[in-house]
Amino acid sequence: MALTSCQAQSQSSTSTEASVNTDSTLNVSKSEAEWREELPHMACFVLREKGTERAFSGEYWDNHEPGMYCCAGCGQALFDADHKFESGTGWPSFFQPAEGTSVLEESDDSWGMRRVEVMCSACGGHLGHVFDDGPKPTGLRYCINSAALSFVQSDSTSVKGIQYD
Ligand SMILES: [Zn+2]
Repeated sequence: MALTSCQAQSQSSTSTEASVNTDSTLNVSKSEAEWREELPHMACFVLREKGTERAFSGEYWDNHEPGMYCCAGCGQALFDADHKFESGTGWPSFFQPAEGTSVLEESDDSWGMRRVEVMCSACGGHLGHVFDDGPKPTGLRYCINSAALSFVQSDSTSVKGIQYD
């Protein structure tokens, strides 16, 4: 069954050479065919086709463990669990990215709405959208699909970058 995943819209991409992402700002570029082979169906649907998982259907909206949310496509660290908050939306929500350079943001006028799309800065994968109705200190709400994320739980012996003297 896995072989059939994410191929629904692949009919037109027979020339993989032409569809290789040559955007030099991205560190990870693969053809759409390569992504389809590597990613689970939902991850491919979200990351490569800008899809949205159903609210409360994802793996991480109710996850409260400490750790790092990484890109499901390329593994880049994207959002720190310390910046996650309860938005009530059914999607993992963060008030800021792990680093300012972790994500790219671009205005998105699809579906008759003015939104700001959030993408992984390393592979260009679609993650979700950012809204300006979040909590302090940023006032931002990064509304991210669980399927675009891969959670790495932090173990207590190596808390992120904190030095114990
Ligand atoms: Zn990525």
